[in-house]
Amino acid sequence: MAKTFIVTDSAEELTRLSAAELAQKIHSREVSSREVTEAHLKRIKDVDGELHAFLHVGEEAALAAADTVDKSLDAGEQPASALAGVPLALKDVFTTTDAPTTCGSKMLEGYMSPYDATVTRRIREAGIPILGKTNLDEFAMGSSTENSAYGPTHNPYDPERTAGGSGGGSSAALASGEAPLAIGTDTGGSIRQPAALTNTVGVKPTYGTVSRYGLVACASSLDQGGPCARTVLDTALLHEVIAGHDKFDATSVDRPVAPVVEAAREGAKGDLSGMTIGVVKQFNREGYQAGVLERFAAAVDQLKSQGAKIVEVDCPHFDDALAAYYLILPCEVSSNLARFDGMRYGLRAGDDGTHSAEEVMAISRAEGFGPEVKRRIILGTYALSVGYYDAYYLQAQRVRTLIAQDFKAAYEQCDVLISPTTPSTAFKLGEKSEDPLEMYNFDLCTLPLNLAGLCGMSVPAGFASDTQLPVGLQIMAPAFQDDRLYRVGAAFEAGLN
Ligand code: GLN
Repeated sequence: MAKTFIVTDSAEELTRLSAAELAQKIHSREVSSREVTEAHLKRIKDVDGELHAFLHVGEEAALAAADTVDKSLDAGEQPASALAGVPLALKDVFTTTDAPTTCGSKMLEGYMSPYDATVTRRIREAGIPILGKTNLDEFAMGSSTENSAYGPTHNPYDPERTAGGSGGGSSAALASGEAPLAIGTDTGGSIRQPAALTNTVGVKPTYGTVSRYGLVACASSLDQGGPCARTVLDTALLHEVIAGHDKFDATSVDRPVAPVVEAAREGAKGDLSGMTIGVVKQFNREGYQAGVLERFAAAVDQLKSQGAKIVEVDCPHFDDALAAYYLILPCEVSSNLARFDGMRYGLRAGDDGTHSAEEVMAISRAEGFGPEVKRRIILGTYALSVGYYDAYYLQAQRVRTLIAQDFKAAYEQCDVLISPTTPSTAFKLGEKSEDPLEMYNFDLCTLPLNLAGLCGMSVPAGFASDTQLPVGLQIMAPAFQDDRLYRVGAAFEAGLN
């Protein structure tokens, strides 16, 4: 067996505890936030050379934030939040004024933002020290972090394998004990899929409930930031910190945040009587890895034994979700990434006095973007062009509506839907990089709910008997019912042995 970097194997105690446990110790002054933060910084030093979860580690800034928390608690003040003092890893697609924001792209190498994203600001205001910025596929496009311009992240369970993508840096940081909390973004699965591959928890909140201000856009109608951790309760506590209305985001909804922490605590009692859970027929069939289907069947049995009523639900248009997603997303990408022109942000290449402004733009884009980003920009530009718009973009939008209708019909029969998070366990780095379609296929189960703007969670469901690697259970809920994810997720977590 290859050397692993799993938190339970080798990490020291402070990096093995949950965020809730750490918060309790910090707030009772049993340990300081500085000690906790230092322990994680040391863990990063010890293992990140092999894992490459971080693109930037902000040691000084993290310790300064920890000291501020310690000082205020020593003075007898109330903690700024339930997680005050507990450090976090931030996906490098949220802007920060004190660290570069690269989005995993050469285009933004060394780019310093003049402002903090709203998510960043909320984290700081909650007294959560930011350890650093985590690796991702370039501009969050990919399923393995292999599209990062700075090299891939390795899975702590098997460093030859992917930790998922696009948020593989955040998931690897959690699984290895480099961080007890992390932030991801989910456009088609980039929070849930990495969580499934690393035995961690990740939630894609309902569209519009977490501000996108300062989140560098991939596909604006699909992108959503969300919380990641090793336990359902920790994820809920972080969800509460980052969610809420923001006047700087035009798509932000002005309504109270779902009671996610309360739901996680209630769920932890393990009783699901009164709940009806729908198994999505389209995501439970041949073609998936046997070990994944085995764990999924065991999960269904477990939920049943915890009192839930299980029904099978038919969502016929989910089979078209992949095709619709890979049209809508590139269309939005081609528009969003037009701003990276070598003039306003980051890289400028070919500006040697011999080239026109147009040529400098072309050279900068040719040098700054990697192959997958270019592929999507070209695809999207094509699909939006005159004569093709109706056949591609408009058609995909129609499919999007049908998928939303499938969800609506499904939730008339049940409270939440479930499926495996991914069709197989973590694949080897390099295994799918030559074949974009195979890579896209890995997001089969996660992307329908992004198209419908709903919410979902991946929660650990044990290990596949054929690969000995982690499997994730995906739970999906209607818009603004994010608390249901936590209720079911926490119950499932409590009942898993
Ligand atoms: N893997 C999907 C893609 O490549 C999803 C990415 C994401 O959620 N950011 O688009």
